Amino acid sequence: MDLDKKIILRKIEEGKDIVSYLKDIDIGIPSAEISRISFKLQEAENLARNDNSTIAGNKLNSIDDLFAGVRKSYFLNLSPRKIDSISRSDQRPKTLDYAREVFEDFEEIKGFNANSADPAVVCGFARLDSNNIMVIGHEKGGFNEDFRRGGSALPQGNLKAIRAMKLAEKFGIPVVTFIDTPGSWPLEEYLPAQRIAKNLEVQYLLKVPHVSVVIGEGGSGGALAIDVCDYRIMLDKAYYSVISISGGAAIIARDKRHISEADLDRAAKNLRITADNARKLGVVDRIVKEPAIGARKNDKDFYLDVREAVIEGLHTVKKNISPFFIPDSKIRDSWKLKKYQVPALLRKRYRKYKKIGVYHTSISDKIRHFMGELYRIKWVHTVFTPLRKSVEFVINLKIREKEEVSLLKAEVQPTVLSYEDRWVECPNTGIHGCQDIWIPTLFEEYNGTCPHCGYHFRLIIDSYIELLTDPGSFREFNEGIESVNPLGFDGYNEKLLKAKKTVKRKCAMITGYALIKGRPVVAVFTDVRFRAGTLGCAEGEKFLRAVKRAMREKKPLVAVHQSGGARIEEGILALMQMVKTSIAIARYKQAGGYYISINTDPTMAGVLASYASLGDFTIAEPNAQIGFAGVHVIEQTIKQKKPRNYQHSEMVMGRGGVDMVVRRDELKDVVARLLNLKKIKGRDESY
Ligand SMILES: [Zn+2]
Repeated sequence: MDLDKKIILRKIEEGKDIVSYLKDIDIGIPSAEISRISFKLQEAENLARNDNSTIAGNKLNSIDDLFAGVRKSYFLNLSPRKIDSISRSDQRPKTLDYAREVFEDFEEIKGFNANSADPAVVCGFARLDSNNIMVIGHEKGGFNEDFRRGGSALPQGNLKAIRAMKLAEKFGIPVVTFIDTPGSWPLEEYLPAQRIAKNLEVQYLLKVPHVSVVIGEGGSGGALAIDVCDYRIMLDKAYYSVISISGGAAIIARDKRHISEADLDRAAKNLRITADNARKLGVVDRIVKEPAIGARKNDKDFYLDVREAVIEGLHTVKKNISPFFIPDSKIRDSWKLKKYQVPALLRKRYRKYKKIGVYHTSISDKIRHFMGELYRIKWVHTVFTPLRKSVEFVINLKIREKEEVSLLKAEVQPTVLSYEDRWVECPNTGIHGCQDIWIPTLFEEYNGTCPHCGYHFRLIIDSYIELLTDPGSFREFNEGIESVNPLGFDGYNEKLLKAKKTVKRKCAMITGYALIKGRPVVAVFTDVRFRAGTLGCAEGEKFLRAVKRAMREKKPLVAVHQSGGARIEEGILALMQMVKTSIAIARYKQAGGYYISINTDPTMAGVLASYASLGDFTIAEPNAQIGFAGVHVIEQTIKQKKPRNYQHSEMVMGRGGVDMVVRRDELKDVVARLLNLKKIKGRDESY
């Protein structure tokens, strides 16, 4: 075969590849247009095989023009939905492609025990010029690789990633992760949310630089499980989102039974899933531009671009810590940190996530926050701590005096928790034959539990404050922090306004000082009536500030969760609050902090996959719904029905997800008892 013919046939093969790619991605190219190119390619192939190389060559040139036309007509100014479609293409390079092409000598390590062999996550050592690197990523695999579940990691896979990170730490090797997952595998049996939460905490403490590259799908908590990085790179045809477009559309659609194309477009636009948006919102540090039609496995030049970006990322992380560092990847161990540089790395990492979020603060909160920050100065701390303690001592003394009175009062005048005048049926009526209950009676006399079977009804958060804290002891702080609409999400302003009006709060979270059986704590409550108690930027910031206070004043932290997850209307910013809150807890616990987490009905998704699962103790209420995804999502994924109590706290405890299930009437006693475990020498004010 002559050389021309060989080259022409190879070009024809490449052309066919592109044609199959264009068919694969769903971005509205008319099939007639693709068929025309396909037909011409076949003609050229026939000509070439019959030794008409010159004519075949000419034909190829005209085909090149057709491809150029397609690029111009369909790939300029891609809409978010088209980017979403391209990001999921089978023909895009996957983690293993990057591991082999961006680095040298990639050697996969496959797991360390029977439960960790999850092929949806791949890990291995590689070299980048003169440096060792730990490469970790979601691997979707290609055709016939269903065992990788399309890059949806099991908890074991996320644990496998942590083990690889720990190995990297042992050798002082930087970590580079490749993010490409539609989300973690939602089956509750192995506690996916609790594993993600743990991953967020452990990643923050990692003592080596971590650069991540979002190469395809950045699917919510599943992506974060290996993406608490110091420098984030994103390809321009990848997406990062708190929820899938179809999931988002299902939530915002007016007619829930019929999700229209317009709903999908609206969700894609509103969720701000593109790299440009992520960069503007401060979530991404650098965007790498892909070829016009998107990255494909055989684009050798493109891998060089990614390589250059990874090197720059690692240089930047190191330079942020040591200003005199000379960036040169040819120098051996150039990104290795000295022991004394590690605290600076963690500090930068903390600050990176701390500043993510958009919310409003009242002037008085701003002033108080500023005063609090002054506490970081040593002499301020030394001078004012005794003063603050004496003031608090007096306040608490007064509360304790009052407590005796109000306890007496409580006996004769039970707290009214809800004034809705109607009957309610216990969900267990069919099983236990419970009688209908008059709502005021239910809440006044039975703490919202069925007197016959003990079923725990959902309780409004004010009642938890009364139930758990000593009467009159709860003093709210940061009440001025307010939810806003950072992405300009359609209709969110109105929803927020309505929530603020009906619930009479500025966001879903309430933070304050309290006494629990005389023990001072910082307490956090979530109000499920405010946008389903979801986690947005204001809630994330409030939680972080509460943890900071607990840390500064060496108080235990007690949090009652009642939340539907991360708030989709705040998109990727809400998603990043999972990292922000988990880092806050990690720092607090590292400083000796003591955190008791109480999961009530419901504690779901992004909240369960972050701060709600990071307590030293995790308590749950009976029959509370605690889970990673909605049951219908799980059933759709595995095509199998799940029992009614699949996500009930008792089942979760059986799987090892919570430490204890405690009845509401015993909650305060149990929490007080746990708090006393850390009472040092009878002194009150310590962790
Ligand atoms: Zn009942």
